[in-house]
This record gives sequence, structure tokens and C-alpha cells, in this order.
Amino acid sequence: MRKSFRCGYCGLEYKTKELADRCFDYCTKHNACSIEITNKAINKKEKSKSK
Ligand SMILES: [Zn+2]
Repeated sequence: MRKSFRCGYCGLEYKTKELADRCFDYCTKHNACSIEITNKAINKKEKSKSK
């Protein structure tokens, strides 16, 4: 069973709750994602044009 943990702020998913928590913590504090953390995301978004 695949389980993933989602950052409630940016929506990226991680394999561990710790990473998701770290992402959420960073996101809410800095209003942005940490590249170091998002690199570990399962569903990290590629740079795409947002309309
Ligand atoms: Zn996040």
C-alpha cells in the first residue's frame, strides 16, 4: 500500500510525514517552498507555465 504525506500548504507529497511536516513548516514560515525539501517530493512539479 502506497502512502504519502502531503504538505497542506503547497500540496506536494512526500514519502515520510517528517518531510511533509518540514515542508509545511517551511512553507508557512517563508511563504515559499524550500528547494532542498521539494526536491524530495514525490509529485514535484516541473517548471510549467501557469496561466
Ligand atoms: Zn510545502
